[in-house]
Amino acid sequence: MNRILVAEDETRIAQFVQKGLRAHGFVPTVVPDGESALQHAISDEFDLMVLDIGLPGIDGLEVLSRLRDVGSTLPVIILTARDSIADRVTGLEGGADDYMSKPFGFEELLVRIRLRLRDPARATDGGVLERGGLRLDTAAHRVTVDGRDVDLSAREFALAEVFLRHPGQVLSREQLLSRVWGYDFDPGSNVVDVYVRYLRKKVGGQRIETVRGSGYRLP
Ligand code: CA
Repeated sequence: MNRILVAEDETRIAQFVQKGLRAHGFVPTVVPDGESALQHAISDEFDLMVLDIGLPGIDGLEVLSRLRDVGSTLPVIILTARDSIADRVTGLEGGADDYMSKPFGFEELLVRIRLRLRDPARATDGGVLERGGLRLDTAAHRVTVDGRDVDLSAREFALAEVFLRHPGQVLSREQLLSRVWGYDFDPGSNVVDVYVRYLRKKVGGQRIETVRGSGYRLP
């Protein structure tokens, strides 16, 4: 099941997209403004976002730019009433994966969503993430280390999932905070270090490297 975040403030369009997605087996979540779009998008709980440009609060392009700034690779399809070349260029340069002008037909949106979800680089569809003997089944919520079951709390699981989705990449404390704990968490908190310690105890200390002054990495 693919979870789709729909950021759209016009109720009529939001309901239209939501209804269509449900009918095709997706699990949609609708948010009506830029702030909540951003908070949901960086939670790592979605497989794709459909993002309206004209949103109250921070607009869609700003949401997209902040999302990419924190390192999120969430596929984003932009929706907009503005169909000028300039907006299209801005949207794609801002890290959008695709672009649709209103009014649009649901089927076209559906095709574009499926196309983006099939992108193998995202690796969100299969539900199983694996690296060096550490294996996470996101659908079954099960973790094994070298074939042995490990019991992780929800937070530890989320943290492990973020590492496994970005293997070999240094993740800063801020990135981990925003992805696991949410956008509004106090950046001065040491909660990331505490949870990395918990996770190491359960999956093995060598599996998560400390990169001095930068953050942590799954080697
Ligand atoms: Ca709008």
